[in-house]
Order: sequence, then C-alpha cells, then structure tokens
Amino acid sequence: MSFDYDLFVIGGGSGGVRAARVAAGDAGAKVALAEMDRYGGTCVIRGCVPKKLMVFASEYNEVVADAKAYGWELRDGPFDWQSFRTRLNSELDRLEGVYRSLLAQSGVETFDARAVLKDAHTIELSTGETKTAKHILVATGGHPVRPAIANAELGIVSDDIFHLESLPKSILIIGGGYIACEFACILHGLGVEVTQYYRGAQILRGFDEEARGLIAESMRERGIDLRTGTNIVEMAPASDDHTISNTGTGSDAAMGASSQDIAAVAERQSGSQSAERGGPIWVKATNGREKVFDAVLFATGRDPNTSDMGLEQIGVKLGRRGEVEVDEYSQTAVPSVFAIGDVTDRVNLTPVAIREGMAFVETVFKGNPTPVDHDLIPSAIFTQPEMGTIGLSEEDAREQEPVEIYCTSFRPMQTAFAGRTDRVLMKLVVSVETRKILGCHIVAPNAGEMIQLAGIAVKMGATKEDFDRTVAVHPTMSEEIVTMKTPVSTA
Ligand code: NDP
Repeated sequence: MSFDYDLFVIGGGSGGVRAARVAAGDAGAKVALAEMDRYGGTCVIRGCVPKKLMVFASEYNEVVADAKAYGWELRDGPFDWQSFRTRLNSELDRLEGVYRSLLAQSGVETFDARAVLKDAHTIELSTGETKTAKHILVATGGHPVRPAIANAELGIVSDDIFHLESLPKSILIIGGGYIACEFACILHGLGVEVTQYYRGAQILRGFDEEARGLIAESMRERGIDLRTGTNIVEMAPASDDHTISNTGTGSDAAMGASSQDIAAVAERQSGSQSAERGGPIWVKATNGREKVFDAVLFATGRDPNTSDMGLEQIGVKLGRRGEVEVDEYSQTAVPSVFAIGDVTDRVNLTPVAIREGMAFVETVFKGNPTPVDHDLIPSAIFTQPEMGTIGLSEEDAREQEPVEIYCTSFRPMQTAFAGRTDRVLMKLVVSVETRKILGCHIVAPNAGEMIQLAGIAVKMGATKEDFDRTVAVHPTMSEEIVTMKTPVSTA
C-alpha cells in the first residue's frame, strides 16, 4: 500500500517539530506536519520561553536594589509592561519563524490546519484535505484547565498572561505547582500585589520537603501573601450581589481586613461598581475569607489535547485525564500511531518531549528500537529563589532504602552583602549501601544552571566520594555541594 507520507506529525511544538525534522533530515523520510496554532507550541509561544523572559524582567527589581547597596546611584522607576510585551511578541514572532524555516529546510511539508484521525493511516485536515501516512505521530501537547466552579471563566490561565493589555494591580493565584509558584514570583517582581491560595499543606507537592519549605518562606518574605490549606470556593464579578452574611468568621471584614477590601465588599453589596467582565473579581475562600482582586489566575494543572481528534474512534487508548496511553517506545494501541510529549502525560517537560521524539525516530525510521529513558531527569522551578532538582527527595529516598542526608543552608555572599536575608539550600541524598547520590536539591539563584551540571554526575552514578574528590571552585555558592563532610542525618 502506498501512502502520501512516511510520517504525518500532528502538532508543531518542540517534540513534534524535532521528530519531523530528524525523520525528514537524518532519516530521509517523507514527512508532513499539521499545526492549528503557532509553530513552537506551548514551550516557545506560551510557556517556557516567554515565562523565562518574564522571570528575567521581574528579577531586575531586586538587582536594582542590590546595585544601590553595592554603591550604584540609581533612580527607581515603574515597570513598563507595554514596552516589555512589544519586545516579547517580536521575539516570539522571530522564534516561530525559526521553527517554520527549520521545518522547511528539512523538507517537511507543513499545513496550518487542525488534524483529525480517520483511520490508522488517514488524517483529515480542517482545510478539507485528506492525507495518508505510514506512521502518524500525535504531539498535540496540553492546555491549562480551570476548576469546576461557577464563574471560573472570569479567571485567566497561564496562556493569557502574555496577552494582558496591562498588568493587574492585584492578583489571586490558585494552585501550588510549577506554574502557580513561578507566576507568583514573576508577578510580584513586576510590582503586582500577589495572593496565592494552595489547597494542600505545602506548595510544590512531590519535591523535597526542605527545599519547598525554603521556597515558601522566601516567597512570603518577599511579600507574596501565600496561604496554604486554602482554596477558592466562589467567585463573581465584584459588583454582583453577595450578602455579607456569607462571609463567615474567616472573612476579612471579620478578621480586620484593609479598609480598601472592606470598601470593595461594601461597594459590591450596594451594587454601585461596574460589573463588566474583566473588572475586579470577588472571591470567597474555603476559610470564609472574602476579597476583591483585579485578576484571578488558575494554575490548577493541564490536560492533554486529545478531544475530538478521532483517537478513540480508531482504537487509540486514552487514560483517565485524556492522555494517550503509550508503551516505552511511544507506540499507542494502534501500531501505526505513536504519541510523544505532554499529550502522553509522562514527564511534562520540553526536553523530555524532544527526547521522546528522537527516540521515536530511532525506533521507527532508523531500525534502532530506543526506549525513552525517564529516569533521573534534572529540572528547575523558576521561582525566586530558583530550585534545581534531580532524583529522589529525602522523603521518597527514605521510603526506598537507608540514606545519609548532607545539607547546608547559608546566606550567599552576593545578596548578603546587599543586606538581603535570602538563604541558599544545598542537599545531597546518599544511599548508605551504594554511596550513590540518589537526589540533589538546590535552592539558590541560578539553581537551574547548577543542576544541569550536577545532573551529569548524578546520571553517571556518581557517589558521595566522587563529589568529595572534586575540588571546590572558590568562592562560589555551588562549591558547598562538594564540601559537605558530615551527614546531618542518617536513617
Ligand atoms: P501542576 O500539576 O504542577 O500543579 C497544579 C496545581 O493545581 C497543584 O498545586 C494542584 O494541587 C492544584 N490544583 C489542581 N486542581 C485544583 C483545584 N480544583 N482546585 C485548587 N487547586 C487545584 O500543574 P501546573 O499547571 O503548575 O504545571 C503543569 C506542568 O507543566 C507541570 O507538571 C510541569 O511538568 C510543567 N511545567 C514545568 C515547568 C518547569 O519545568 N519549570 C514550568 C511550568 C510548567 P495538588 O498539589 O493538591 O494536586
């Protein structure tokens, strides 16, 4: 049977584009790719890249304060969102152009269209065209989800942040994961008054307890109103009629809220404030607290993009959250259909999607079956301070085997000199039996950069003694990672 293409990729994000380019360029396959939105996907257009640029923008606030402490004479000024956003948009346009030209240079045919699977080898495009392919790769990513509460559409999601006409004066962020914590820090750094509600006992569930504790503490010290054990229960335009009797004992009115908050509640009750969508939002929390915010950001997780794609109809199995179920070679229940990246909900990180795409090409087009290695993946959370992490948390390691914990926390030279109270944390989780580093957790400025390098050693199976034999680079923060001599605990 002959097909139009050897490979049809659905989704032009990091994973899909890499797989398409390598299959066409290196393996000489005839490849097409369909993307219904912008090339570059979540990472480039509405995720990692614009987020990191916003992280940089938000950090200048403290850099300026530090510079003054170092003797520079500087004048404070406001952050100009419009000017930043204009530059950001042109950078994203440039990157999208790069993605498009890389595909073209590799000989990949592209369709600006939505694709639906009709059978194991047939794709129907929103342009009306039908294409066939020997192999189909689903790389459609995911999308942010709002919780199921009334008026949730009044809130924004991470995709919307980059399009805001102006920054809100105040924002409530719901969630305690990567996106919630990163945007809490970014927006605070840009001058927004940030409140964060997280339903659990501590933010960044799943990460090392001490590391997440330090980040939470630093966020609070910087001025973020982080409230754990708290969730949103109701929201409405601030002018809608809500009775104060609903506020309960935990309301701000009862707990001594600012006069501004009380005025906002009173105004809402008298119905004198404009109710237009996009205006202030009244929110009631699980503890009865009522407050009005200029914006509410839901950072409550992401779901895979699999709806209305014909996947289940052709026999592809989907999981509970709609994720495509795949084996270690990224193959679905339909042998000609593969899936990579966030749509499979394995490890939802750009470099992992790229790895999965490369492994797919090795397996299918180069005759070299390559399972995807999801073990010991270093990652960073771009909070302020940043966290860089690889391997097991102390808590997870203790469940697994006897471990020694090496840990130090200190005020780094650069910011201590400027009078800041920020602390750095360096932690190694070591197997008592093998002496291997099971986990490395760093909370520090540029921890993401540090963990990339420490990650090589950990991935190679380095032992504590290998770290000890490495001479310190002095004076740096990261030298502490090779100078911790005595375990703080063993169990
Ligand atoms: P996460 O799954 O990390 O966090 C979702 C958060 O929302 C959790 O704190 C969760 O609470 C909470 N939540 C879920 N449902 C509700 C609800 N109904 N009401 C209140 N709170 C709720 O998702 P994110 O959206 O932050 O990030 C998605 C993925 O994107 C991440 O898993 C990560 O893989 C990737 N990412 C990576 C980044 C990086 O590498 N730096 C940056 C940004 C994203 P609970 O803990 O109780 O479940």
